[in-house]
Amino acid sequence: MANAVTCPTGLTGLIRGMKVREERVLADRKLAKVGGQLDELLASCWEETTDPGPYVFAEKPIDWGAVLQGDRFFALLMIRALTYGPQYAFGISCRRDACRARIEWEVDLTKLPVRALSSESRAAFVAGNRFETTLPDAGKRVGFKLLTGGDERKLPALQRSAPDRLLSAVLAYRVLDIAGIDAKDKRQFIEELTLRDADFLVDEFDRVDCGVDTTIEVECPECRETQEVELPFDSAFFLPGKERTARRKARSTSSPT
Ligand SMILES: [Zn+2]
Repeated sequence: MANAVTCPTGLTGLIRGMKVREERVLADRKLAKVGGQLDELLASCWEETTDPGPYVFAEKPIDWGAVLQGDRFFALLMIRALTYGPQYAFGISCRRDACRARIEWEVDLTKLPVRALSSESRAAFVAGNRFETTLPDAGKRVGFKLLTGGDERKLPALQRSAPDRLLSAVLAYRVLDIAGIDAKDKRQFIEELTLRDADFLVDEFDRVDCGVDTTIEVECPECRETQEVELPFDSAFFLPGKERTARRKARSTSSPT
């Protein structure tokens, strides 16, 4: 069974649901360590490209490392929906300290809001994945890039290498150049940014990007408080319902938190 999907950039192709052999991909610890599981899943379940969208793929199979995060995530959601159906059930704890009740929630993965890549962003991406904005406080123009699958694989290591300077590490990774600042002084400049500028920059990254909005509003059945949560997304996301619950339980009993 194959299904046509159009990703947020316009990349279009046929996908199939996961087969038993993909279980091996998800269980492969070595692959998990280098962040290759999702690429493997995409490579197996994306069967044919009917429109490459803004990408130029030199060879026939897609280079998923060159594909924008928004497209990759969308394709993965659709593969999951095709495999197990569009409904995705998950459980979280109420965030109110006085409550902490278990909230069981379900979302339709095919109904999450999707933001398409705008024609301006597409042009900037095709011209070399360089976007520009001006920082309100520093008054400088900065060039930055949208994240691709290749970047996605590098970020965890980067974050581990600078846990105390997470924000500046991520900003420095995405900022390509700053007008009037030498490349070697980039990191220093970013460390000195006001938080307002940093916040502005992160908003700009989001504004020009495409993708699936994974913020979900849930309501606690006990205290009725509504809260926004991020769609839980890890390798268990691709397991059938029962196995997923079992794996999450095993994990929560084996760790103290
Ligand atoms: Zn509650």
